[in-house]
Amino acid sequence: MVTIAEPLIHQYDVPGPRYTSYPPVPSWSSDFPAERWTDALRAVPSQDPFALYAHFPFCATRCLYCGCNAIPTQRRDKVDAYLDDVAHELALLTDALGWGRPVHQMHWGGGTPNLLTGAQTERALRLLTDAFRFEPGAELSVECDPRVVTDGQLQHLRSLGFSRVSFGVQDLDDHVQRAIGRIQPVALVRDVVQQARRAGFAQINLDLIYGLPHQTRASVDATIDEVLALHPDRIASFGYAHLPNQRAHQRAIPLEALPGTVDRVELFRHIVDRFTDAGYAWIGFDHFARQDDPLAVAQREGRLHRNFMGYTTETGPHLLGIGMSSISEVNGVFAQNAATLGEWRERVQAGALPLVRGHVLTDDDRLRGGLIKQLLCNLELPRASVPESLAPALDALEATARDGLVTVQSERVAVTELGRYFLRNLCLPFDAYLPPRTTDRVFSRTL
Ligand code: SF4
Repeated sequence: MVTIAEPLIHQYDVPGPRYTSYPPVPSWSSDFPAERWTDALRAVPSQDPFALYAHFPFCATRCLYCGCNAIPTQRRDKVDAYLDDVAHELALLTDALGWGRPVHQMHWGGGTPNLLTGAQTERALRLLTDAFRFEPGAELSVECDPRVVTDGQLQHLRSLGFSRVSFGVQDLDDHVQRAIGRIQPVALVRDVVQQARRAGFAQINLDLIYGLPHQTRASVDATIDEVLALHPDRIASFGYAHLPNQRAHQRAIPLEALPGTVDRVELFRHIVDRFTDAGYAWIGFDHFARQDDPLAVAQREGRLHRNFMGYTTETGPHLLGIGMSSISEVNGVFAQNAATLGEWRERVQAGALPLVRGHVLTDDDRLRGGLIKQLLCNLELPRASVPESLAPALDALEATARDGLVTVQSERVAVTELGRYFLRNLCLPFDAYLPPRTTDRVFSRTL
C-alpha cells in the first residue's frame, strides 16, 4: 500500500487528457475535408480487419453525472428512425470501403444499447452484418443498463453472438444513487449478473465511478464488497469528471457533496488496494482484470493497447465508429462524427459522411503518441525510444523521480507504484497540443 502525500496531490492536480487518442479529440481540426477521410477508407487493404464501435445514444432517463452523448427518451420509434439513419451511414461507408470488409471485434455502446427492443436489436445487427463480413470467433460486446435489462433480453443478445457484457454499476450506496439520479438496488445488480451468467455470457464487466457526491471510504467499501461477490472478469473504476460548463445537467449535482481531490485520490487508492488484494490485476490507471483475463495477460506480456474504447487487447490499425458522436481511426487518420443527433442525421440523409472533426497523424504525432501509449500501457519508457528532439520531455519525466513517481535506470524510465496514480500527468510532457492553462477547460482533472 502506497502513501500519497497531500502536497503531491495538489502539485499534480491539473487538467489533462485521458489519452484514448493522441492527439486528443479537442485538438483535431473542425475544418477537416471529407475527401481526406474517404481517401483513407479507400486505401485500406481489402484483407485488413476492422474493429467496429456502434453508438446507440438513447437512454430511459438521464443520470446527473452522465458524460456520454446520451438522449433521454421513452419513445422507441426514435430508435427506428435512428436505425434508418445508421443504414444511410453504413451505405456511405460501404461506398468507400466496398461491402463485406472483415470485422474481428464489435462493441455496442451508448447511451443504452439495451433500450432497443428485440426486433430493433436484430435489425441493428443485421444492418452491420450485411455491410461487413464478421470473422468466425469475432468478439461481440455490449453495454447494458441493469435498470432496463431483462433476463429474456440477455438470452437474446447471447443467442445473437454477444459474449461480453458491461453493466454500469457506478455505486451501490442509496445516498449516492439519489444524488446522481440513478437508483439501482444491490439486489437488481446481483440478479442481472446472475442472469447474464445463466444466459452464457463468458465475460462480465462491471463499471464503477469514484469521486461521486457523498461517497465515503465506507460506502465505497460496501460497493466493492458487493462487486467482488459477483466475480466480474473486469472492473473499470473511472473518476467522475465534473464539467458543468460542458454538461449542464451536472449542475444538479450538489457541489458541496463532491469529495475534494485529496479525498478522491484516497478513495481511488483504497479501490486499488481492495481489488488488487482480491487478486485482480491493476490495468493501466483505471481498470482491473482477473489474472487470466486477456487484458491482464496482455499487460504482463507488454501487448496492452489503448484506443477510443480505453484499454484493450485490440491492436488492429482500423477502428470504425458508427452512429452520432462516434470516433474512427483508419490508417493513421482520425475522424469524429457529428455529436448531435440533428447534425449527424442531416448529413447522412444528405448523402455525406457525417464527420465534423478529423486529424491526419504526422510523424511527430506517431512518435509522441507511441511514447504516451508506452507509458500508459507498459508503465515504462525505454530511453532509446526517445529521440534527441524530445530530450526536454524525457527530462521532465525523469524529474518526477524526485517525487517518487518514476525510477530512472540506465536503459529505461519505469513508473513506480506511486507513479501509477499520476499516470496521465507523466504523459503531459510528451503532448505537443496541450492548451494554455487559461483556456484549458476541455479536459477533466488528472486526479
Ligand atoms: S445510462 Fe449511461 S449514457 Fe445513459 S444517461 Fe445514464 S450514464 Fe448517461
